Amino acid sequence: ESQLNPNYSFDNFLEGDSNRLARSAGLAVAAKPGGTSFNPLLIFGGVGLGKTHLAHAIGVDIKDKYPEKTVLYISAEKFTQQYIDAVKKNNRNDFIHFYQIIDVLIIDDVQFLSGKTGTQDVFFHIFNHLHQNGKQVILTSDKAPVDMQDIEQRLLSRFKWGLSAELQNPDFETRVSILKNKLYRDGVEMPEDIIDYVAKNIKSNVRELEGAIISLIAQSSFNKKEITIDLARVIVEKFVKNTKREVSIDYIQKVVSDYFQMDIDTLQSKTRKRHIVQARQLAMFFAKKYTKASLASIGSQIGKRDHATVLHACKTVDNLSSTDKQFKKYVEDITKKLSV
Ligand code: ADP
Ligand code: MG
Repeated sequence: ESQLNPNYSFDNFLEGDSNRLARSAGLAVAAKPGGTSFNPLLIFGGVGLGKTHLAHAIGVDIKDKYPEKTVLYISAEKFTQQYIDAVKKNNRNDFIHFYQIIDVLIIDDVQFLSGKTGTQDVFFHIFNHLHQNGKQVILTSDKAPVDMQDIEQRLLSRFKWGLSAELQNPDFETRVSILKNKLYRDGVEMPEDIIDYVAKNIKSNVRELEGAIISLIAQSSFNKKEITIDLARVIVEKFVKNTKREVSIDYIQKVVSDYFQMDIDTLQSKTRKRHIVQARQLAMFFAKKYTKASLASIGSQIGKRDHATVLHACKTVDNLSSTDKQFKKYVEDITKKLSV
């Protein structure tokens, strides 16, 4: 059993600037599994941007072209669970053997392996075996390898061997075509201005985009209401409200520097004065917590620091807020100011 979902195909994975690289790399891998330099192919990006869909699409396409190949899709969570069960039942070797004879291994959400050293270890061995034998490995993750935490270095370095391709937020045109495609497949008609309205207002998650359209259709058919802009507004608001509003790194720096009554240049400066360092670390911590930016990008926006500095800042804030009362209060106060 490949565990592939045939509904997730390349045909219905609409192309746009936000996914062109990942999608083309996926097609290349599907044409020649194990035979390109994209091994492993790592697809990364935020929630609801199509990682699972694309991973299945590659597997489905391979199965189509090469029916004799064994393709397996599994989430990292399930893989971990299987491994734990195997160890309990003294079947560790069978487990390893099972995975070593697969031609195309797709593991979804590898960030789940973070901190799980036993599973990482076994995956490392399976990965090496597959790679050496020219078998294809496809991985997805919510972060780029440089931003993954608590994953062993030797595994991270393997993740970087092939190609890491990012799925970004789709632009407006792509959002419109995704919606139209969905409506077309469901055989539903919807006025153009409603589609535009939904696509304009839901920007950072394709799952929510589709969800809003689905509830719009449901509302109108259950309540026999005409689909109007007003109805769309109500539904979109529900979706947007339930999603944490994304704050920008600029806004975080402004809130933090206002709180400490300094200006942003001071916050970003190279000084080692303790209260300024702490303000800077807090800004980095909140940027990590409330934005999707990578550690590297946070660092470059907050005083041109590197990703290790940001990581260190996040750990320091974590530690201090559990040991230092005053510091804990800073975190609480700023959290309140940020969540408008
Ligand atoms: P992730 O795994 O990144 O959280 P999913 O793969 O589950 O996201 O995608 C969420 C939903 O959005 C799915 O229903 C998927 O089919 C849809 N989707 C995402 N990207 C696209 C796209 N480019 N074209 C069509 N549908 C998409
Ligand atoms: Mg997913």
